[in-house]
Amino acid sequence: MFFRRASEDRAFREAQRAGYELLLQLQATHPWPDFPEQAVPAPAAEEAVAPDLLPPDLRVPSRQEVAGLMMRWQQPLVIDGEVRTCPGCGAYRDWIVFCMRDDFVWLRCRAGHETKEPRLDAAWYNRISGPVDRFHPTLEEGLRHLGH
Ligand SMILES: [Zn+2]
Repeated sequence: MFFRRASEDRAFREAQRAGYELLLQLQATHPWPDFPEQAVPAPAAEEAVAPDLLPPDLRVPSRQEVAGLMMRWQQPLVIDGEVRTCPGCGAYRDWIVFCMRDDFVWLRCRAGHETKEPRLDAAWYNRISGPVDRFHPTLEEGLRHLGH
């Protein structure tokens, strides 16, 4: 648990809902977490539309079909009572949190450093994240959408 009191927990969840949870499609040519540098054109159908009206390749994929989930985490991230800092630059807030298909949680700081967080897992991620409402075909799209 990150918060001792229910009121704090509730406020925290509301803050988290303000961010979007995103999906990343697994792409063999873009293996995560080696973020590719080349730009990928933004798809025209990025914005959410009723899934049933879309052809299958534009529907929001299920969790089994994507490389992982991502969300923005602007508060300091407290794990086991200590604030998590980036080993690359010392940042302690404004993370992008990834939950990959293998259940591992990764953190990406504002400067783009990525680090695995073995103390967190998919169960933790699912507990604090909101419903999946966006799908991004590339990691870059997701990061841009989240403001990174
Ligand atoms: Zn960093």
